[in-house]
Order: sequence, then structure tokens, then C-alpha cells
Amino acid sequence: MKISKLAILAAGALAFGLASAQRTEVDLETGETAMQISLQKEIFGILISDTEEVHGEYKSKGIFYKNANLAKYQAIFADICANDKAQTCPPVYFTKRQEQGIASMYPNGVLAINESIIERIDDNGATFVLAHEYAHYKLSHSKQRMKVIAKSVVDNAYPIREPEQALAYGGMFEGAKNAHYDYEDQADAYGFAYVKSKGIVLDCNKMFAAIAGGEVVSNDKHDTVDKRCANYKG
Ligand SMILES: [Zn+2]
Repeated sequence: MKISKLAILAAGALAFGLASAQRTEVDLETGETAMQISLQKEIFGILISDTEEVHGEYKSKGIFYKNANLAKYQAIFADICANDKAQTCPPVYFTKRQEQGIASMYPNGVLAINESIIERIDDNGATFVLAHEYAHYKLSHSKQRMKVIAKSVVDNAYPIREPEQALAYGGMFEGAKNAHYDYEDQADAYGFAYVKSKGIVLDCNKMFAAIAGGEVVSNDKHDTVDKRCANYKG
């Protein structure tokens, strides 16, 4: 009985292409140097407290909001969490910040969806987008990123005086830039595997074109759409 249950769990994990149903633990107490450890702890602490502060403002000003349309996406997201047996599932808001893109998982574990963009795609596309965002949370990409930035600052002896500078410029450091593409690839892989497990077939290029809404798709944060969709094996 126990063995067959384990086998089912293992099969489920394989279907997602991931080894574990648990959230990836990223230990900020470990690193290659004492300086790196101290910096990564410091910048992660600042990142979280700044994000919380800004989110408090967003909520009080209605920039983060909820309405009846949110329920559908909350249900899709709850399903994604449940499928992964997640112990905690991030809260979901709509955001009025147009510069944010279709959806964003913040470092403090809050998902913000751009209502005017996500309504351009169907529920299947939304399922992929939300599973992609969930993967950023599950894989603790924000924490991983802080470790990469801190290591990069120390290894290259960047003249960083304040941890805030490391945070502000961290994305430009070579190591962090490359890691960002890896995180996006991982999130896409999770999203594609998730929709497949749900029997959903995506028209990948059409979905990304709809998200772009007739604008030229920017590649500053992601690979090209063609490259991303080449990874989709529907
Ligand atoms: Zn992403």
C-alpha cells in the first residue's frame, strides 16, 4: 500500500520534470566566503522589507486590487498549488502597474496579475502563465538571485559601498544576468509540463503574441518567443 502510494507520488513528480513536491530550500547561511554570506543575508532582508513596504502602499492606494474577475485566476492558481501539495500558496492580486507585464511573483511570495493583459489570453494560456509564476516561488528564485548577486560582488570586487547598490545594480552583473535566463527557462519548463499534465494544448506563439498585444515582444528579460516556444513540446 505504502509502496504504491510512493510510486504514484514519484510518477507525479516526474510528470512535472521536478524531483520534489517541496519548495526549494535556499540557505542564506551558506556561501563561498563570509563576506558573501553577510551580503546575501543583508540584501535579501532589504529586498523583503522594501517589497513589503511598497506592497502596503500599493494596497492602500488600490494599485493592488481584487474584483470578481480575480476569482477565476485564484482558482487556477490554487489548483497549481494543490497539484504540488504546496504547504503555503501565495496570495493573488490584480495590479494596475502596466510596466509590470502580465504577471509577477514578488520576492515576498505575492503574485500580482495585470488584468488588462491576462484577459487577452484564454484560460489555457492563463494556466501556463500562472504555473510559470508559481515555479519562481517554488524554486525560490529571489533567494537564489541574492546569492548570485552577493557572490558576484565579492568575486569581482565591485566597488559597492552599500547593500542597496548591490540590489539596484545586481541585475546587470554578468552572473546574475545569466542566472535570470536560467530561472525563466526553469519557470517555462514547469509551466509547459504543468499544462501538459492537465491535458492542455497551447498554441505557444499565438499565446505570446496575444500577451504582447500587437507590440514588439521585448527580449530584455526573456529569451525570444521563438526560443521559448521551441522548448514547448505539446
Ligand atoms: Zn518568469
